[in-house]
Amino acid sequence: AAVRSVTVLGATGSIGDSTMDLLRAAKDRYRVEALTANSNVAGLAKLAKEFGARYVAVADSSRLTELKDALAGTRTECGAGESAVVEAAARPADWVMAAVSGAAGLKPALAAVDRGATVALANKECLVCAGDFFMERASKAGACILPADSEHNALFQALASGNREELVRVVITASGGPFRTWSSTDIEQATLAQALKHPNWSMGQKITIDSASMMNKGLEVIEAACLFGLTADEIDVLVHPQSIIHGMVEFSDRSVVAQLGAPDMRTPIAHCLGWPDRIVGPAAKLDLAKIGQLTFETPDFARFPGLKLAYEALRTGRGATTVYNAANEVAVAAFIAGKIRFGAIARLVEATLEAWIRAGNLAPLTSADDAITVDHNARNKAVTLLPQIAL
Ligand code: NDP
Ligand code: MG
Repeated sequence: AAVRSVTVLGATGSIGDSTMDLLRAAKDRYRVEALTANSNVAGLAKLAKEFGARYVAVADSSRLTELKDALAGTRTECGAGESAVVEAAARPADWVMAAVSGAAGLKPALAAVDRGATVALANKECLVCAGDFFMERASKAGACILPADSEHNALFQALASGNREELVRVVITASGGPFRTWSSTDIEQATLAQALKHPNWSMGQKITIDSASMMNKGLEVIEAACLFGLTADEIDVLVHPQSIIHGMVEFSDRSVVAQLGAPDMRTPIAHCLGWPDRIVGPAAKLDLAKIGQLTFETPDFARFPGLKLAYEALRTGRGATTVYNAANEVAVAAFIAGKIRFGAIARLVEATLEAWIRAGNLAPLTSADDAITVDHNARNKAVTLLPQIAL
């Protein structure tokens, strides 16, 4: 088979690491065009040397000299600043992994989309921030979006069993996170160390906290709506503590098609890397006999209000999902900085959404600039609401 060129945005992160691991195992089939990071120069330079990347970029513009020094004597070109990350995405690579964390990944993801690349999308925040126009823009440019998020990757695979008109609903599963069985009072007081202890998945810090608050599942409900053109009523969340079934699609004949796999992101990433073929994934087989039981619960909107807010934002539309994501990013940063309690994360998101709707700011987003403006204003609003939420 022909060698495919690949670019990894967010190469030094958790998803980046899993992606590089798969590429390492299939070095003869892939060539690395560009790699990016935020500020981890050492990690990025190490990968660039190992894979012979043609271009590397760090978002932190103050680190250009450091990056150039680290790659002195190699043929890798270096860039720094937001625009350099966008340039990395714009360079010709057949396949791009979008794994920057947060809405900061929107512009680079769009740069890959606009040149019609195949984009494996892990960065759910960029989709939630963009709302409706992201997929339209992808289809106009002839880009192929492959969902790398495990639940959406499962849906993508299961959806191949039927037609859109035959679909009744989709189900995405949730592990329930470290606070699945905790009371509201205990969740309110949870510490950073407790929130970072995910039972099944090893992931970056931001998404691990989102999993504990179930804001991650909220983002994923919106992500599913955007990716597959679904309404809020067509998307259900099911708590499944073993994280073996990732997603299911129910069709009109009541057939439910599910995708299963061990909780290892290398499996959905391998699906995206190989698509439309299959490549070799992690070594371990899924051993259901050893797991013994798969259990299921209804999600609790009262203890995890962030999930309920996602449905509300999705039903409201017109920028509300952008606000939902922006306020959550501010809230998670404030929680990490010790400025607010864990329980205040969802309260800040709710207060920011309410203020947004009350101000009559609702208008459909038709461009990246629209989304970035709403994102910016919502962050400012969330910051001004922080002191009263912190009480
Ligand atoms: P990490 O925090 O581990 O990694 C984030 C990556 O993005 C790093 O390479 C980081 O660089 C880079 N980065 C961070 N901020 C910026 C910025 N402002 N501009 C440019 N680059 C930046 O995150 P994850 O790998 O866990 O998650 C990445 C995305 O994938 C998220 O959107 C997450 O929701 C999604 N996802 C993750 C899953 C997982 O298992 N981890 C599962 C499903 C989805 P540096 O190292 O220099 O900080
Ligand atoms: Mg997921």
